[in-house]
Amino acid sequence: MQQTDKRTLIDKINKLKKEKNAIILAHCYQNVEVDEVADFVGDSLGLSQLAAKTDAKIIVFLGVTFMAETAKILSPDKKVLIPSLNAGCDMADMVNLEQLREFKAKYPNVPAVCYVNSTAEVKSEVDICCTSSNAINVVKSLNAKKVLFLPDENLGNWVAKNLPEVEIVTYNGCCPIHKSITTQEIKDLKQKYPNAKVLIHPECTAEVLALGDFIGSTTQIMKYIKDNNYNSYIIVTEKGVVDRLQRDYPQKEFILVSPKAYCPNMKRNCLEDVLRALENEEHEIFVDREIAKKALLPIERMVSTEKN
Ligand code: SF4
Repeated sequence: MQQTDKRTLIDKINKLKKEKNAIILAHCYQNVEVDEVADFVGDSLGLSQLAAKTDAKIIVFLGVTFMAETAKILSPDKKVLIPSLNAGCDMADMVNLEQLREFKAKYPNVPAVCYVNSTAEVKSEVDICCTSSNAINVVKSLNAKKVLFLPDENLGNWVAKNLPEVEIVTYNGCCPIHKSITTQEIKDLKQKYPNAKVLIHPECTAEVLALGDFIGSTTQIMKYIKDNNYNSYIIVTEKGVVDRLQRDYPQKEFILVSPKAYCPNMKRNCLEDVLRALENEEHEIFVDREIAKKALLPIERMVSTEKN
């Protein structure tokens, strides 16, 4: 796209945003160009919490569907739009309500912890939600001997490693993007960049995590870089994070672990889509009121553990 066309698009989006009292949220796995119109860029729950606090009438969520659903759960009276309806999440799609019920039925009276990367329906029937930043603390807060963890097996295993006193029964879901990263890819890069620090997202397998200098969510990885003075990093999470880091710290070196670390569902929104979404107020996300009410409880429980 030519610079002038891009500028025109950005101006149109910003004008419309003001006229319609809309707010634009961009997940940090999105195409980096959308940051130019975003009011907030970050992780899924943080974005929804920020949007809920504003008086905007419309939220345009540049992310995948479960994120827009979470925004709707937290802001039931706002209109929530997602520019691309095809932006699903493979991990969230790995567990539906029926599968959740079957899983829970095998372990009666065991509390169920659900990663926010899940549908509103699934959230509505669990005890508490968690993010990749707070999963360990959320499980700890339950004071339970045994806990069900879904949908991400790898994140659940990471929690289990950190809380050996709790028996974690994991559901067999995963993020195919993070799961595809191999130890060999990291070993090769470590050899090529011996001074680089290896920062890894906990949706990767336990074998991969064992090679990290730091394990954390995207927000925690970004904070680690802000707080430390190393010059070179091997980043083991989605490409959008590396693009933003390289833009924000041009003097540092960021190496994306593999070209496979690319979520196509996260790249469906471009500036043209954002403009269309605002012009036509499409595509609106609806969550059944009763389900939204029930799904809000485990999210609120999670948030209250952060305050304690
Ligand atoms: S990176 Fe993985 S968890 Fe995130 S949206 Fe894509 S498939 Fe889902």
